[in-house]
Amino acid sequence: MPNMKPDKTPMPAQDPIVRSGNFEEVEYGYTHEMALEEAQRCLQCKHAPCMTGCPVHVQIPNFIKCIIDGDMDLAYDTIRQTSSLPAVCGRVCPQERQCEKICVRGIKHEAVGIGRLERYVADWKMKNGSLEIKKAEPNGHKVAILGAGPAGLTCAGDLCAKGYDVTIYEALHTAGGVLMYGIPEFRLPKEIVQKEIDGLRESGVKIETNMVIGRVLSIDELFEMGFEAVFIGTGAGLPRFMNIPGEGLSGVYSANEFLTRINLMKAYLHDYDTPINRPKCVAVIGGGNVAMDAARSAKRLGAEKVYIVYRRSEAEMPARLEEIHHAKEEGIIFQLLHNPVAIHGDEEGHVTAIECVKMELGEPDESGRRSPIAVEGSNFNLEVDTVIMAIGNSPNPLICQTTDGLEDRRGCIVVDDHMKTSREGVYAGGDTVTGAATVILAMGAGKDAAAAIDEYINSK
Ligand code: FAD
Ligand code: SF4
Ligand code: SF4
Repeated sequence: MPNMKPDKTPMPAQDPIVRSGNFEEVEYGYTHEMALEEAQRCLQCKHAPCMTGCPVHVQIPNFIKCIIDGDMDLAYDTIRQTSSLPAVCGRVCPQERQCEKICVRGIKHEAVGIGRLERYVADWKMKNGSLEIKKAEPNGHKVAILGAGPAGLTCAGDLCAKGYDVTIYEALHTAGGVLMYGIPEFRLPKEIVQKEIDGLRESGVKIETNMVIGRVLSIDELFEMGFEAVFIGTGAGLPRFMNIPGEGLSGVYSANEFLTRINLMKAYLHDYDTPINRPKCVAVIGGGNVAMDAARSAKRLGAEKVYIVYRRSEAEMPARLEEIHHAKEEGIIFQLLHNPVAIHGDEEGHVTAIECVKMELGEPDESGRRSPIAVEGSNFNLEVDTVIMAIGNSPNPLICQTTDGLEDRRGCIVVDDHMKTSREGVYAGGDTVTGAATVILAMGAGKDAAAAIDEYINSK
């Protein structure tokens, strides 16, 4: 008999007041009893609608059944058949818009906690199981991957499993992409990402860091070095600004820079002397996951007041519901229907205030969201010492600028249905193709590209 409780089994978490002063993971994860209770809420639907909501089609009812049967190794293997980073996706996937959105239990009550169960299985495997590394027979073909984010890592893992000699070239000194430099420790512990990367290395993937392709080496040079195909997974790391007066003042950050200083340059550790503004009063502009991460990180650095300034209402916020909920619990102040028009500073050029206007929602725009309209004469100043821009990122133009014949549309590399670019032997996927999106979509693109590269090289 399934467990017909209407709500998800609650997830144990750190107390909001305690956690807003530390960078440790917010949620502790299910115990075995909790996982079992939640797994029993699944109706094992024959047609598994939840699977159609997952971009990589994880076999959801099958892995949940394995939890009920107590076969955790099989539960893990079932997820791993289609998802390369289950411990990551279980934590950061926007499940409420993907698998859980279509779960039949969600029609009347709360959906099955698919992400929570996925995290439980992945964590169990890391603690109790040995992650067997299977080395494939070398097939004699070389492939280069640009970027060690979820797209590049997935593409590399799949090709390596087929026997390819794979080298990832990563611009930063650490592999992992946004998983390492963007998403904070309290949401995704770096140890988990590092374990996944170590596993890939052990399986034979070579990772060369501090290699900015387009500067140190070009794609043409990679072909001259004997690589038969190239996958571009360089993400969307170029921050956008609003082009309002005062953006050049000291104390204005892009969210990427602020989070990189905290995560990669370890400003969250007290014994690191990382150069960063330790703010007292912060305005974070934007309403997505990046904005929530920046705001919650600023709070943990010791800020007394942290505002989220967003020009639409909460219903239009693109951030995951869980992040919004956690941010509110931690005391982040939501200034909804507000838009910044200028940043003001003192004589020394440091931020003192952000000038906002109030907004009203008008008719839906081309994105389907109601467009915000400024209320005339509603300007006011919010006193802050730091402003963090989290209004979106675009792909860095370097690769397109340094590669002949690589077509792009508004900065995003153009690919066909098989992830193939306009250049022979060059494939691309993840945020560099779609613009800023999600981890699971980037992983899915890396998988599709690996299959397409394999077919291309075999057909030569
Ligand atoms: P990236 O992860 O950006 O990796 C690209 C890699 O390429 C980077 O390591 C970069 O250094 C490297 N690179 C760039 N240029 C070059 C070059 N010229 N040569 C060599 N290497 C290069 N998604 C979710 O699903 N859930 C979330 O909760 C979530 N939260 C997020 C929070 C933040 C703060 C941010 C910034 C993003 C978040 N996302 C989230 C989005 C998600 O992280 C991205 O969609 C995903 O990481 C894209 O993967 P990718 O492999 O395409 O690119
Ligand atoms: Fe859901 Fe993400 Fe897991 Fe797919 S990978 S089942 S979308 S949590
Ligand atoms: Fe289980 Fe929901 Fe999927 Fe049905 S739709 S199989 S209840 S997770």
